[in-house]
Amino acid sequence: MPGVAIITEACVDVKDRACVDVCPVQCIYEFDPSTNQLVSEIEAGSGVVENSHQPSPDSIAIFGDGLLYVNVDECTSCTACYQPDVCPVGAIYSEEHVPNGSTVTTYNAADTAKGHDHTFFVQLTRDVFGD
Ligand code: SF4
Ligand code: SF4
Repeated sequence: MPGVAIITEACVDVKDRACVDVCPVQCIYEFDPSTNQLVSEIEAGSGVVENSHQPSPDSIAIFGDGLLYVNVDECTSCTACYQPDVCPVGAIYSEEHVPNGSTVTTYNAADTAKGHDHTFFVQLTRDVFGD
């Protein structure tokens, strides 16, 4: 049984929305600081909002609009976004395949701004939706 999708650190500053294009239920969100909302679009980059949620202030403060967030309550575990040919940087995993922090503690050692334990993102993904 495949799991819900989790977006991890490799998405930071890439955000090409390739995953948004393949998600059939528009459950991949971007934070819009101008409205303080997490929004998903009907089509990536269309600007036409399908769904919106309020972010949890403490959780959204960590990365803000630096990466995208999956609403795991809406994700149907369809597997489309974490197929190997979708994300150009390998940032999305099914929940059970997010690398264990004991074996993968840093994503990009050349950039000290990046280096969160990937399992951190499992919790962040659950915490960032405040409503
Ligand atoms: S697994 Fe499917 S439903 Fe869940 S975020 Fe990915 S594409 Fe969307
Ligand atoms: S496809 Fe990967 S890099 Fe692109 S927005 Fe989705 S998670 Fe981020």
